Amino acid sequence: MSHDPDCLFCKIVAGQIPSRKAYEDELVLAFHDIHPWAPVHVLIVPKQHIAMMSELGDEHVQLLGHMSVLAPKLMRDLGVTNGFRTVINTGPDGGQEVYHLHMHVMGGPRPWLKG
Ligand code: ADP
Repeated sequence: MSHDPDCLFCKIVAGQIPSRKAYEDELVLAFHDIHPWAPVHVLIVPKQHIAMMSELGDEHVQLLGHMSVLAPKLMRDLGVTNGFRTVINTGPDGGQEVYHLHMHVMGGPRPWLKG
């Protein structure tokens, strides 16, 4: 499994940097965002290093499906019952800050959400 020793989220996956874990399996780790935009804000990251969405290929279809199916389950487990928002930022113009693919999953009572 690819791992980038300089990548923040690879370090979190490896346990070298602490995180507040919400879920883990063989493919992904989910942990609470350190600067939450919403009452519940979790990041789902693949354990393998993939820098961003534009690097995805057909071999990643199952992984992305897994992340998508996990998001609502996680929200339910965390007590989010009234909907949530998912965001994946890609590249500089997409507002990506950490170059390890991650899905933001944000829920909880509004008004945290604009628009
Ligand atoms: P943006 O900061 O514009 O949302 P990204 O989509 O790349 O860019 O998101 C990176 C996310 O990672 C941010 O929401 C940030 O708060 C979060 N983050 C950065 N460092 C940590 C950390 N050590 N633990 C948990 N979340 C982190």
